[in-house]
Amino acid sequence: MSATIIDGNAAAKEMRRDIEARVGARLQAGKRAPGLAVVLVGLNPASQVYVSHKRKDCAEVGFRDLAYDLPESTSEAELLALIDRLNEDPEVDGILVQLPLPGHIHAEKVIERIRADKDVDGFHPYNVGRLALRMPLLRPCTPRGVMVLLERSGIALAGKEAVVVGASNIVGRPMALELLAAGCTVTVTHSRTQDLESHIRRAEVLVVAVGRPEMIRGEWIRPGAVVVDVGINRREDGRLVGDVHFDSAKAVASAITPVPGGVGPMTRALLLQNTLEATELRGV
Ligand code: NAD
Repeated sequence: MSATIIDGNAAAKEMRRDIEARVGARLQAGKRAPGLAVVLVGLNPASQVYVSHKRKDCAEVGFRDLAYDLPESTSEAELLALIDRLNEDPEVDGILVQLPLPGHIHAEKVIERIRADKDVDGFHPYNVGRLALRMPLLRPCTPRGVMVLLERSGIALAGKEAVVVGASNIVGRPMALELLAAGCTVTVTHSRTQDLESHIRRAEVLVVAVGRPEMIRGEWIRPGAVVVDVGINRREDGRLVGDVHFDSAKAVASAITPVPGGVGPMTRALLLQNTLEATELRGV
């Protein structure tokens, strides 16, 4: 068997086109374009790349991108004061603070300060709680992107045995909540899990978000499983790889996401989708 490749680039492109059309319809109706404030503190090179992608995406679909590039020396109080201003600004529909923040700033405090209805990353405890209670509003972008990919690929989830590898606040945990809400029987594994392999062998749907290059081999994977690889790792030779060993997994899975070109583009597209939804939810 050779797995179907789930094409995240194509799905993300389709979503962006749809969002662009909805922005056009808003403008025609005399409404303004959605406004996304992107806050970057410091000069972390990876963060600079991510933020430049987000700004390019905003421009492409016709959003107003409001850039706040702050020096590394910005204090927590200064950042919180900026969040307060953005919370009150009627032209700002979404607020994104790029993580990680410099060590002297508590990320949890900053995330909690963002108004829940402008929290387009979906990381605010209110939004995570809504997802846990099956009343989602703004949902974390990466897990939601995975759900869109699975849905678009026609993969039925109700009753399936799903295993999530990794339990971070931004990927693993909300991913488990999404799969639970979709009717899966969910196991969440993490760094303290004993015998990871035995859990993975049971998975009909396997989602991996650890950050270890190619740690999961095809031999562990249940034949016919759907494999979603969230990991992004750069090898010494410069090649980008996921957390799953793609070639050996592809030989046993029924469907698999590649790295790059799988979940990554969807995370970006879902940020746009969340921003549009935040704008519409606020009725502006
Ligand atoms: P993280 O470091 O916050 O969390 C990693 C998780 O993996 C933790 O819960 C840890 O307990 C678990 N873990 C570590 N070793 C393990 C092991 N041996 N067995 C099982 N679990 C283990 O990372 P994160 O922010 O969740 O990101 C994970 C990966 O996903 C990274 O490669 C990151 O770059 C990538 N990522 C990709 C996207 C995307 O859009 N594709 C978005 C976010 C993160």
